[in-house]
Amino acid sequence: MNKPKKAKENKFTVKQHINVIMRGLKILAAVPQTVMVLKIFQSVFNSVVPFINIYFSAKILNELAGEKNQNRLVFLILLTIGLNFASMLIKSIINRLTEYKATDSLNALLKIYSDKLFSMDYVDIENPEKQQEFYEIRQYHFNTKFGLPYLLGTYYGITDGIMPVILSVAMAFSLFTLKIPVNSPFVFLNSPVAVIIVILILACSILLSPYLSMIGGKIWAESTAEENKGKHLFYFYFFDMIYGSERAKDIRIYNQKRVIDKSAEDFFDFRFGTWEKCAKYNAKFSALSTGVSYLSNGLIYLFVALKAFAGAFGVGGIVQYVGAITLFSKGFALLLTNIGGLVNNTAFLDKIIRFLDTPNKKYQGTLSVEKRDDNDYAIEFKNVSFKYPGMDSYALKNLNLQFNIGQRLAVVGMNGSGKTTMIKLLCRLYDPTEGEITLNGIDIKKYKYNEYMDLFSVVFQDFKLLPFKLGENVAVSVNYDSEKVTEMLSKSGFAERLADMPKGLDTYLNENFEDDGDGVELSGGEEQKVALARALYKDAPFIVLDEPTAALDPIAEFEVYSKFNEIVGGKTAIYISHRLSSCRFCDDIAVFHEGELIQRGSHDVLIADEGGKYHELWNAQAQYYNENKKADNCLS
Ligand code: ADP
Repeated sequence: MNKPKKAKENKFTVKQHINVIMRGLKILAAVPQTVMVLKIFQSVFNSVVPFINIYFSAKILNELAGEKNQNRLVFLILLTIGLNFASMLIKSIINRLTEYKATDSLNALLKIYSDKLFSMDYVDIENPEKQQEFYEIRQYHFNTKFGLPYLLGTYYGITDGIMPVILSVAMAFSLFTLKIPVNSPFVFLNSPVAVIIVILILACSILLSPYLSMIGGKIWAESTAEENKGKHLFYFYFFDMIYGSERAKDIRIYNQKRVIDKSAEDFFDFRFGTWEKCAKYNAKFSALSTGVSYLSNGLIYLFVALKAFAGAFGVGGIVQYVGAITLFSKGFALLLTNIGGLVNNTAFLDKIIRFLDTPNKKYQGTLSVEKRDDNDYAIEFKNVSFKYPGMDSYALKNLNLQFNIGQRLAVVGMNGSGKTTMIKLLCRLYDPTEGEITLNGIDIKKYKYNEYMDLFSVVFQDFKLLPFKLGENVAVSVNYDSEKVTEMLSKSGFAERLADMPKGLDTYLNENFEDDGDGVELSGGEEQKVALARALYKDAPFIVLDEPTAALDPIAEFEVYSKFNEIVGGKTAIYISHRLSSCRFCDDIAVFHEGELIQRGSHDVLIADEGGKYHELWNAQAQYYNENKKADNCLS
C-alpha cells in the first residue's frame, strides 16, 4: 500500500496550478448555483455597509467643520441612518438565505464522492490503492477542509474581497488627485514620486502580509498527512475504542486500560508535536505580517494627515481616505490570501480530481438480454482463469463449468479454493483474465450490464443490509408490495421474528435511526434470513447463495435445507459452502481446490471415489462432527 504523500512532495507548474483549479471549479458546478449567486449578493451588501458609513461620516464631518447648515446635517444623518437600516435588513435576509443554502452546497460536495463510488468499477472499490486515496480525501474533507471545501471557501473569500477593493479604489482615488496649495511647505507631497512611494508602501503592506500568512498556511498544508493521522488516532482512541460498547467486555476482562493508556500517551506526544510545530511557524509569520501591516498603515495615515493639514482636503477627507485605505488593504489581503491558499490547495485538489477521474475500464456491452418466461438461460465458464489485480498467482485456473437450467449445483471446497471468486466473475464484478463466460453462447461482456445483472440474485457471504426499514431492505425500494415482502420473509424463516418487530415491515434495522427506540439490531442469523428474503424478492432466474447458513443455528440451518427446493422454486440455484454436509441435498456437486474444479458429480458418486478430495474432506468433517457429538453426549 502506498504511504500517504505529503503535499510538499508535489510540485506544480503555474500552468498545472491553473489547470487543476479550473478543473476544480468545473466540479464545483455540481454545487447548487443559487448559493454561488446568493454569495455574490451577500458580499456586495456586506461590503457596502461600511462604505456608506465612511462616506457619510466624512460628509457630516466636513459639514460640521464648514458651513454647519442644520437642514443639510439633519438630511445627511437621516440618510445615513435610513441607508444603514435598509442595507442591514437586506444583508441579514441574504445572510440567512446564504447560510441555509450553504449547507446544501456542503451536502452537494459529498454527493460528488458518493456518485463516484456508486459508479466506480468494483475492481477499483476493492483496490487497496484506491481505498487509500479515498481515505485521504475523506480525511482532508472532514478534518483540514483542504480540497473541494477549500475551493468553495476560496470562492466565498474572493467574492468577499473584490467588492471592498472596487469601492475603496473609487473612494480613495481623489486622495492622489486633490493637490496641496503651492505655498505650503508640504507641496512636495503632490509630486508623482511621493504618490509612487505611498503606493509602494501600500503594496508592501498588502502583498507582504498575505504572503507571510500564506507561508504559515503552507506549513499547515504540508503537515496535513500527520495532522490527519493524529485526528484519526484521536477518534480511534476516544470514540471507537473507549466510548464504543463493543470493546467494553474485553477492556474489563483483560484490564486493557494499561496498554491503551500507554498508546494514548504516545499518541498525545505525536499529535502535540505536529501541532506545536505548525503553531510555532504560524505564530512567527502572523506576528511578522501584523507588524509589517501596522508599520505601513502608519506611514500612509501620516501621508493622509499631512495632506489634510496642508489644505488638500477637509477633515472629513481624513475619515474617508483612511477608512477607504483600511478597507482596501483588508479586501486586497483577503483576495491575495485566498489566491495564495489556492496554491496550497492544489495538491489536495489534484488528488481528488485523479480519484474522480478514475476511468471505468469495464467493457460495456450493448446487447439486450432476451426476456424468457421459461428461464431458458444457459451459462458456461469456458477455460476461465483469473488473477486478482497485482497478484502473481491464479485465484481460478482453467475453469470449465456449465449451469443447467433449473439445476441445484453445490460448489464445495476449502476456504480460499476460489468459490466466491467464481461468483464474482459470474456477476462481472471482475472479468476473467483468460477464457470467457457465455450466456446462451455469447460472451457475457457483450450484454448490457444492468440487464445481465437482472438474471441474478446473490447472497454474498459478507452481505450487508441497509440501516433502513425492513420492507425497504427486502424490496430494495421505498414503494413495495408488502404482501410479497412478507411472503419472502416467511419463506426465508423470518416470520416469527417479523411478528415481534415493533413496526412490522416499517421497523428500522438500526437502533439509532428511530427516536422512539423502535429500531432493532438483528442477530447475524436473522440478518442472513432477511438477506435471503431480499434475494428471493428480486425473483431472478439464477439464485446464488454463498455460505447462506454460516450465521444460522443448526435448527434454522436444517429448515433452510429442508425447504430449499420450495424456497428456490424453478430457479437455477448455486449453493456454495465449505460444509459438505450442507450440500448433500443438491443433485450436482462441484469440488474446488486451489482455484481448480477437480471433481463433479452427485454425493454418492463423489464419496465412492476414495482417493478424491471430496471423500477426504467429507471424512475430515464427519470425524469433527462425530467428535463433537461424542463430547455432547459425555456432557449430557
Ligand atoms: P473461497 O470463496 O473458496 O473461500 P475466494 O474465492 O474468496 O475463496 O478466494 C480465492 C483466492 O483468491 C484466495 O487465495 C484469496 O486469498 C484470493 N482473493 C480473494 N479476494 C481477493 C482480492 N480482493 N484480492 C486479492 N486476492 C483475493
